[in-house]
Amino acid sequence: MSKAPRNTAQRDRDRDRIRRTAAACGICGEPIDYALKWPEKRCFVVDHVVPLHRGGLDVIGNKQAAHNECNSAKRARIVAPIVRRSGSLA
Ligand SMILES: [Zn+2]
Repeated sequence: MSKAPRNTAQRDRDRDRIRRTAAACGICGEPIDYALKWPEKRCFVVDHVVPLHRGGLDVIGNKQAAHNECNSAKRARIVAPIVRRSGSLA
């Protein structure tokens, strides 16, 4: 068995950083209940602003907090429109 090298330590650090900001969902703009546990629909997940398969980078600058269900809905879209960024710093 071989495992592809994945930088999970960095991912965990980024996740914690985003969690500590207690940011609202970057997709719908509503608050996130950070006490909810995955796979609750409204739990916190890390969303890639520009999806990885569209050339986005796996770095903190391309990550934002999102609801699990919002992230799923975004991924389900075939053609993702430019993500609204206005809500993230409001
Ligand atoms: Zn949301």
